[in-house]
Amino acid sequence: MEVKTSLLDNMIGVGDMVLLEPLSEETFIDNLQKRFSHNEIYTYIGSVVISMNPYRSLPIYTADKVEEYRNRNFYELSPHIYALSDEAYRSLRDQDKDQCILITGESGAGKTEASKLVMSYVAAVCGKGHEVNKVKEQLLQSNPVLEAFGNAKTVRNDNSSRFGKYMDIEFDFKGDPLGGVISNYLLEKSRVVKQPRGERNFHIFYQLLSGASEDMLKKLKLGRDFSKYNYLSLDSATVNGLDDAANFRTVRNAMQIVGFLEDEVQSVLELVAAVLKLGNIEFKPESRANGFDESLYVGDLEMCELLGIEQLVLERAFSFRTVEAKMEKVSTTLNVAQAYYARDALAKNLYSRMFSWLVNRINESIKAKTKARKKVMGVLDIYGFEIFEDNSFEQFIINYCNEKLQQIFIELTLREEQEEYVREGIEWTNIEYFNNAIICELIENNQNGILAMLDEECLRPGTVTDETFLDKLNTVCAEHQHFESRLSKNSKFLTDHSLPHNCFRIQHYAGKVLYQVEGFVDKNNDLLYRDLSQAMYKANHSLMKLLFPEGNPAKVNLKRPPTAGFQFKASVGTLMRNLQTKNPNYIRCIKPNDKKAAQVFSESLVSHQVRYLGLMENVRVRRAGYAFRQAYEPCLERYKMLCKQTWPHWKDLLFFLEERRRQCLEDLATLIQKIYRGWKRRTHFLLLKKSQVVV
Ligand code: ATP
Ligand code: MG
Repeated sequence: MEVKTSLLDNMIGVGDMVLLEPLSEETFIDNLQKRFSHNEIYTYIGSVVISMNPYRSLPIYTADKVEEYRNRNFYELSPHIYALSDEAYRSLRDQDKDQCILITGESGAGKTEASKLVMSYVAAVCGKGHEVNKVKEQLLQSNPVLEAFGNAKTVRNDNSSRFGKYMDIEFDFKGDPLGGVISNYLLEKSRVVKQPRGERNFHIFYQLLSGASEDMLKKLKLGRDFSKYNYLSLDSATVNGLDDAANFRTVRNAMQIVGFLEDEVQSVLELVAAVLKLGNIEFKPESRANGFDESLYVGDLEMCELLGIEQLVLERAFSFRTVEAKMEKVSTTLNVAQAYYARDALAKNLYSRMFSWLVNRINESIKAKTKARKKVMGVLDIYGFEIFEDNSFEQFIINYCNEKLQQIFIELTLREEQEEYVREGIEWTNIEYFNNAIICELIENNQNGILAMLDEECLRPGTVTDETFLDKLNTVCAEHQHFESRLSKNSKFLTDHSLPHNCFRIQHYAGKVLYQVEGFVDKNNDLLYRDLSQAMYKANHSLMKLLFPEGNPAKVNLKRPPTAGFQFKASVGTLMRNLQTKNPNYIRCIKPNDKKAAQVFSESLVSHQVRYLGLMENVRVRRAGYAFRQAYEPCLERYKMLCKQTWPHWKDLLFFLEERRRQCLEDLATLIQKIYRGWKRRTHFLLLKKSQVVV
């Protein structure tokens, strides 16, 4: 019965950290490094897959590899993302358990690549046939479309996801794909109008200018030269290894496969062109008799032609701000700075609304065409933890989301696991770990969490600025009992007199981050002057009209839309609840170096990630515990012949009442436990230490 797993044979280093002897952070990192230097980029911690970014293409994703991993047990072959994908898929298909694949790691660690590998593996092994193949193709081709519009070159990653993505892939009872639903989370829209040094705007802008035919550019009234557009950063307009023109063809092709009509593609590209043109609108000061400086619009007629907006309408929209109270309308004129502010707000809104429309449109195409019950596999690829030199509202939101994901990981792999042993009366020595719930609280607590305070400030009448928000934060955090305990003992909101005056600092699970408060109020408010949405609604452009429904004068809504922070918190909450209903599979991505270089392993960078991802604690819990578990039912399938209650008439069991059936299963479990030493019984599982893994 004692059969060694293949993990111990012919292996470079140790394939499963649970088997690593002796275990210390040093040996853990050594093992990763040894494997990495031999291109073994995957290593297990039990069922968790650690994935090191190789920064070069490896021949490990071929059709032969897919065949090799297909229908094999998880520990049978060397660690691979395909093994996890196969396990998740078979568990969904054969045991009817909805799955989710949680991919985490910092920016550039390889999450998006991992999510695509999971999708392509599942597509390769699930059903065949004309209809099924069409569904698969559409699901896969949604990736290049969303990446073109939602990814950008950053200093950390040449193809950084600037939005969060969760995709449910739906299957029928046989395990054939039926379709999918994508949810997107907060696109980093500030990038549309301004990019940090060394970074680019979203890929699509460069792709369009490089890849469109002369004819198309003419129709869109664009030129090829990036430098003509204020919204395109110039210091890194072309990226090594990125062929914008070829990618444009890929994106157009993908849009066609996903099901976009030709005129829909045209409309989208017109809006992309419109954003570029908006960036070129200028305003000049014009002194008026009353001594005020008002702004004078120097627009681009072509943009108005492109969208069918009268020049005068646009000019007015950039000159006035109308505030409507219950019965009256008050118009004020905009000065130059306000006009620029309005222009950028419009560009950001236009682009992010278009992005949400794209996601909805893709969903329209890929959604399952049946109402029958579906099995679901969710794949989560969300922006990674970010610590930049300048961290703003976007980083705050991204890091909050990563805290929540870490929280799920802790809950399921560290806390619940340990609590369950104790509950089941199995001998257990507690393993300490850092629980980041305290940081989530600091950010999301309904009364005095940072998001709540920001909302309160945004909704308060009177003069509200980023500084008033920061004052409030500092005062509340210093005064309030809730925070006081943290400030003294275990503070995650770090006040420090050496901080620059416009900053606050949070000790995140992945490190300390200094946030510049500038722009928080504005980005959270996310308001667009009504004059502008009304002007856009007047455009003779059906997609544009659709994107600005509040501009319809017949539907004036005086209610304030929810703030960006509020919406994000709500959607992250929904996501977390959704994930908790599914069986989780973890891929923990690690970035080997900061240079995007192949075969460079920076020990300090890797240890930092290993530490904050809680991987050491993860191994310790898995080692102390019983790493192999099997639920009673599959155990029955496997061992039914051992027990007289279950053999030879085991099929009768299916017709037994719940109570009697359960009793039989427990009898069988007890018997197995007696025959094979090392098995432990739990309410629903039989457990076995990893070193004894058999079957
Ligand atoms: P972000 O949070 O910024 O979106 P990410 O974790 O999604 O980052 P990816 O875009 O998946 O990071 O990976 C960054 C780059 O690393 C890829 O563009 C690719 O060049 C390389 N890379 C990642 N994983 C692999 C892999 N398995 N094989 C080869 N190259 C890879
Ligand atoms: Mg990504």
